[in-house]
Amino acid sequence: MSSLTELSGGPALRQERRVVTEIPGPKSRELLARKQAAVANGVGTVLPVFVQRAGGGIVEDVDGNALIDFGSGIAVTSVGNSAEAVVRRTTEQLTRFTHTCAMVTPYEGYVEVCEELARLTPGDHPKKSALFNSGAEAVENAVKIARYATGRQAVVVFEHGYHGRTNLTMALTAKNMPYKHGFGPFAPEIYRVPVAYPYRWLTGPENCAQEAAAQAIDLITKDIGAENVAAMLIEPLQGEGGFIEPAKGFLPRMAEFAEQHGIVFVADEIQSGFCRTGQWFASEDEGLVPDLITTAKGIAGGLPLAAVTGRAELMDAAHTGGLGGTYGGNPVACAAALGAIETMRELDLPARARRIEEIMKPRLRALADRFALIGEVRGRGAMLAIELVHPGTKEPAPEATAAVAVACHRAGLLVLTAGTYGNVLRFLPPLVIGEDLLTEGLDILEGALSEA
Ligand SMILES: *Cc1c(COP(=O)(O)O)cnc(C)c1O
Repeated sequence: MSSLTELSGGPALRQERRVVTEIPGPKSRELLARKQAAVANGVGTVLPVFVQRAGGGIVEDVDGNALIDFGSGIAVTSVGNSAEAVVRRTTEQLTRFTHTCAMVTPYEGYVEVCEELARLTPGDHPKKSALFNSGAEAVENAVKIARYATGRQAVVVFEHGYHGRTNLTMALTAKNMPYKHGFGPFAPEIYRVPVAYPYRWLTGPENCAQEAAAQAIDLITKDIGAENVAAMLIEPLQGEGGFIEPAKGFLPRMAEFAEQHGIVFVADEIQSGFCRTGQWFASEDEGLVPDLITTAKGIAGGLPLAAVTGRAELMDAAHTGGLGGTYGGNPVACAAALGAIETMRELDLPARARRIEEIMKPRLRALADRFALIGEVRGRGAMLAIELVHPGTKEPAPEATAAVAVACHRAGLLVLTAGTYGNVLRFLPPLVIGEDLLTEGLDILEGALSEA
């Protein structure tokens, strides 16, 4: 087997942190001024260093700084940047053709990706897929499919859920700022119910799963009528909402309720899928077999691709021509997905994600013992987070969270924040990151927490 760095874009780039200017450096600041003049303000920036190259666990900027990557471009480059198989397959595809539109004249790569999705996603029932460009588009299409197949309109979503930035997916998303604020009116027939968030469940974590499920089911039954619900849509491990792991038992109970009432159970695995949580899909942890599953982010090593995969009879319900899009399943993006999946198999990336958890979680727990600022450590595999609170309370500490993130950035560690209350630091390293970089990143985090 080839080595981790060889297959993960690593060889082109020394796997070593290097901070040679202030962050951002002079060249990045110059580019930032140009960005401010030319790019809409609504498009934000977490860390304004301009990237020159990236690979393995390193992001190198135009000033020559090399940052440790705990973000993977938001859980996208799980196989690393410019992973060998992704580059090989996309390059080969680029020289043959770049686009025909799969709805006009199809090509093998599209079919091959759908065959892989049928093999890799949970459940051994007959499955089919349709490919799109972005996660939001996949979620929109899952709703279209569920509505068509059931002849019903209502969609049930959950507190802290995130599903995208298009009009329908804004409506499906819980958090107002920054995703929805000022962008209404939103699509109708969306109903939000409680999720089992153990850390913040008022009666404590013990009864959280049962009580949250009872409340959610009561609301669905009373306010909507289960017979009017087309789909129930949930992230099995919530991403933007703050890496909330619904208390064990909650998801199976909701899936069971959905099944009993002919509701299409949709797992949004756009962030948690493709090896991120130590399984191919986070649904596997509780043995869930979703009717439909949406994927994107980690699927194609950085190229834009998304999918809806699910029960063949549901996927086939809509009339021919009812699903699609000009670029959906672009041949270069499909080649990238096949390269990414090849890499995941070759390097056994689910095992790598579990190893990352093994290294990181005990360190994060030790930090939580030392710093009262850390209210909870949670997550699975290489999808881990700490929730920051005012010491001695559960009151969210978004200012401290932002300060710790900035201190990490200055020291050469790229971390992201998340959470409904903006008080979660989330860690999404590429699954191919070297263990030395992982440890060094945690040292930097420790230093940043000491400062805060
Ligand atoms: C990122 C994300 C989306 C939206 O995907 P885009 O590609 O940004 O449109 C939807 N659902 C979840 C769970 C996500 O993390």
